[in-house]
Amino acid sequence: MPYCTNCGFEIPSGTSFCPSCGSDQVTVPVFEARGSPSVLPLILGILGIIAGIFVPLFGIILGIIGAAIAHKDKNKRSNTYLGVCILAIFVSLAVWALNFVFLMSLLAV
Ligand SMILES: [Zn+2]
Repeated sequence: MPYCTNCGFEIPSGTSFCPSCGSDQVTVPVFEARGSPSVLPLILGILGIIAGIFVPLFGIILGIIGAAIAHKDKNKRSNTYLGVCILAIFVSLAVWALNFVFLMSLLAV
């Protein structure tokens, strides 16, 4: 529950004016009202990294979905989650490239 920036009176959520002193509450942090960010991108990112080691295509898909969700969420912590998802995509691509090189070397022998 937010408090009035002017008098400290408890303001019901969704109210833009203090019921006690009538002061405008537009300065109340927007992030608090939105709540904590979804941890789904973080979970998808971690799963993407793990999946990417075994099935690179699956890791890339998970990473992209996670990054898209994290991108929509304008919370500060989502940037970290977005980073994890991008890392998942990179790990998957790296494993994919390594697998390709490995297969090519097998065929070359
Ligand atoms: Zn007030």
